[in-house]
Amino acid sequence: MTNGKPDEPAAAAADEPRDFIREIVAADLASGRHASVVTRFPPEPNGYLHIGHAKSICLNFGVAREFGGRCNLRFDDTNPTKEEQEYIDAIEADVRWLGFDWGEHLHHASDYFEQLYQWAVVLVKAAKAYVDDLTADQIREYRGTLTEPGRNSPWRDRSVEESLDLLERMRRGEFPDGSRVLRARIDMASGNINLRDPVMYRILHATHPRTGAAWCLYPTYDYAHGQSDAIEGVTHSICTLEFEDHRPLYDWFLENLPVPSRPRQYEFARLNLTHTVLSKRFLLRLVSEGRVRGWDDPRMPSISGLRRRGFPPEALRDFAEMIGVAKRESVIDYAALEHCVRDVLNRTALRRMAVLRPLRVVITNYPEGQVERFDVANNPEDESAGTRPVSFSRELWIEREDFMEDPPKKFYRLAPGREVRLRSAYFVTCQEALKDAQGQVVELRCTYDPATRGGSAPDGRSPKATLHWVSAAHATAGEVRLYDHLFARPDPRLDGDQLDDLNPRSEETLSGCLLEPALANQPPGTRVQFERLGYFCVDPDSTPERPVWNRIVTLRDTWSKLRTRLS
Ligand code: ATP
Ligand code: MG
Repeated sequence: MTNGKPDEPAAAAADEPRDFIREIVAADLASGRHASVVTRFPPEPNGYLHIGHAKSICLNFGVAREFGGRCNLRFDDTNPTKEEQEYIDAIEADVRWLGFDWGEHLHHASDYFEQLYQWAVVLVKAAKAYVDDLTADQIREYRGTLTEPGRNSPWRDRSVEESLDLLERMRRGEFPDGSRVLRARIDMASGNINLRDPVMYRILHATHPRTGAAWCLYPTYDYAHGQSDAIEGVTHSICTLEFEDHRPLYDWFLENLPVPSRPRQYEFARLNLTHTVLSKRFLLRLVSEGRVRGWDDPRMPSISGLRRRGFPPEALRDFAEMIGVAKRESVIDYAALEHCVRDVLNRTALRRMAVLRPLRVVITNYPEGQVERFDVANNPEDESAGTRPVSFSRELWIEREDFMEDPPKKFYRLAPGREVRLRSAYFVTCQEALKDAQGQVVELRCTYDPATRGGSAPDGRSPKATLHWVSAAHATAGEVRLYDHLFARPDPRLDGDQLDDLNPRSEETLSGCLLEPALANQPPGTRVQFERLGYFCVDPDSTPERPVWNRIVTLRDTWSKLRTRLS
């Protein structure tokens, strides 16, 4: 964990800021440096958001909410060749679903293209920017390395007038893509490569989703970002650690331009999770190469994938709070995320019975045609959730793996001659296993003890196992999809092709599952616990004839165990 004591309740720190970002904000408000806090979440609309972005969203919107300020949603739409309206719509939907609202403050870097251009002119006039005719390859070559200083471009000292003229003509579309750039004139010998005359504008004859054909000159992230923050009055521009080395440049632009406010940039460690890769570029590859069914495939770490899988938004917010915000890189165990999901669902999800791999049970001493209804608790964790009636009859389905003809030690479930409890119903004893021609068990013949009605015996005997079951005459059929990690290994390799490391068994589809009748006709997004099997959610692929359920998580909390062992 990143912050030392993950178990400390948040309330304990009510008057102590939870992390260094909140400490800075609290101090800036206390000292009067800012009257109120303004943050922003600045996605580039070149893909769908993932769980790493959720961390940033919870931080930026969370800080604004806690300190009575505001958080802007700003699309960093400066690269029209990779950006699409589909991504913009998905990002807005994801932020809302996470429970945050930007109110009036929906912005786009493209809203500021004219102002950014005018400021570029200011820098050219002050001889702090120039048009460079070097090619991209030459610029790279002149830039030097971490150990060697760069060299000045031969165009670095061209006159202000000439640069101004060229910049205007670049804007008018007189030059082809890649033929010229505008660069800030800072220091080619700087120890910080970002300060070696960084590119501010490149020529790109491309149609932009918002500005259409108005521009063929687009600002770089480094130039657009800080100025956009200043225009919006952002006070704390919070980003991930890879931008730490860009901060001197962020500051340089703000100090050399007549901007209306002075934002400051703070960096925190990005979220890394085991068994997955958090990178829009990589996730886009999975989608475009057909390795998953789409951005919202339930195996994806995208917010839309987690939503479709059935993760509640509250669990993602809890997770963000639990992992905290730090300056040191770390990798969080995926089990910690699942722990947060279980925690929410344990409190909120109704309990139901469903049999994934059915085995027929006939109770030979139970009257034919008789049906009993048991009232079964909807959620033992929440009495107010009430009960539902569950029908019991002579023929039932149980889980195939709950029976073994020749049980090893420690297998306490059903076996020949053995008695088990059927959840909330009766004790049954297996008398005989019927087999087909191949020797496969196809049916169990059992007897029941009428004195154990409701699931307890007057003589106090208690079987070691309780099984879930579904009445054959009442069951409804469905498909169930079980998931495993996208990557089998916890640390997908970053060298080589990560696609080679994908877990070939990340999805298993079971058809012919049998569910209790209360599970029929549930709308997509409905989440329940299938007793003993995990939490499940109705997938949008469902039809009335063929409902589809995704397993959200199993019931086994590996993270809690891990945590206990470590403490
Ligand atoms: P990716 O590499 O996945 O494409 P990105 O940083 O390029 O991510 P942006 O759209 O630029 O994606 O990100 C918007 C914001 O989300 C940025 O402020 C970025 O720092 C933050 N962010 C991105 N990935 C993570 C992460 N893994 N953990 C925390 N914050 C993140
Ligand atoms: Mg980025």
